[in-house]
Amino acid sequence: MTHEVAIVGAGAAGAGAAYALRETDAAVTVFEKSRGVCGRAATRRKNGCVYDHGANYVKSDDERVASLISETLSDGLVEIDEPIWTFDAEGEISEGRNGDEHKWTYEGGITGLAKRLFDRTDAAIEHETRVEQVERTGRSDESNGSDRSHRWRPIDTDGNELGEYDAALLTPPAPQTAALVGWTDLGEEVGDELVGEIGNVGYRTQLTAVLHYPFAIDPPYYALVNTDHEHDIAWVSREECKAGHVPDGECLLIAQMAPDWSVERYDEPANDVADAAADLVGELFDDDRFASPDWTDVQRWRFALPESGADADVLARAEGEGVFFAGDWVVGEGRVHEALRNGLETGERIANRLQ
Ligand SMILES: Cc1cc2nc3c(=O)[nH]c(=O)nc-3n(C[C@H](O)[C@H](O)[C@H](O)COP(=O)(O)OP(=O)(O)OC[C@H]3O[C@@H](n4cnc5c(N)ncnc54)[C@H](O)[C@@H]3O)c2cc1C
Repeated sequence: MTHEVAIVGAGAAGAGAAYALRETDAAVTVFEKSRGVCGRAATRRKNGCVYDHGANYVKSDDERVASLISETLSDGLVEIDEPIWTFDAEGEISEGRNGDEHKWTYEGGITGLAKRLFDRTDAAIEHETRVEQVERTGRSDESNGSDRSHRWRPIDTDGNELGEYDAALLTPPAPQTAALVGWTDLGEEVGDELVGEIGNVGYRTQLTAVLHYPFAIDPPYYALVNTDHEHDIAWVSREECKAGHVPDGECLLIAQMAPDWSVERYDEPANDVADAAADLVGELFDDDRFASPDWTDVQRWRFALPESGADADVLARAEGEGVFFAGDWVVGEGRVHEALRNGLETGERIANRLQ
């Protein structure tokens, strides 16, 4: 018998789970609210440039994920060779922090990771579909001691029913997953406990300013990271260090702004955010040219990075009912490789349950 699995969210975790289910008998449908895939590992194209304006790159810290990327998903893989340097509250730049063995993205952008994972599956992806509720259908089959006869029916924000599934995997950031769980019939006790646990995961808010310049620069680093967390800029990196992203003779900076600065300016017009970020970059580089980019872009990440994780034992209580969770917030670390690893493992647990 073919089983059906619904995955909410086509980020690294959702893609990892679909990939893990590819050789099982499960028919997988992914519901994704945006038009693309890979979630916060996001890529945009503008004026001949390709830029990763969410996650900057994927680390090779996890052996399983590193071999998957470098062996199976390696077409178009780009390695950033230049190191990461640091700066402090006063803007003093120093050499250092080369902890990452590999810094990976794709020539066409970091979204290539989820694209390559999904390409190796038969999963159907329903884009521009925001799931608002997951409804329980049928009844528990108590005659054989099993609780597996009920199924799960996702419903979108327009009230459309999106089919029935043996298992549902929820991967949106924790606050969005908590809202979904609030609408999911998991029984009062388990449901309330889950909403409390998932809703407790706090997030760092971040504004990203993308600053383009019609000239090239050649410093000895790919990026600068603020290590004392006292500067208004948390991170600034050079997208031209990624092969295929920026035409020769140009410079494209990604400025990830500090949480306090980001919260304060979150609702300001994009041009004001970009202008203020460019002024700060000009000061940091001690070069007025950087205060006047020739074009800019801004992305607002309300739920950028989880500040903690959720209790795995509490999350596991829903698994017996066929409801699973995956994502960086399940692990407690905002990293693409962690989300992907967690998605792979959760996909395997779903496969085991359906066997
Ligand atoms: C600015 C920024 C910089 C970062 N830098 C790095 C970095 O350099 N290196 C690194 O490893 N990590 C970095 N991260 C973290 C990394 O991007 C995340 O940890 C990782 O992408 C999380 O993957 P995920 O699948 O758990 O969640 P997501 O990527 O958030 O995926 C969830 C998906 O669910 C979709 N969704 C949400 N709600 C619904 C709904 N109701 N219905 C349908 N779909 C829904 C979303 O659109 C999204 O596609 C950064 C993140 C940000 C924001």
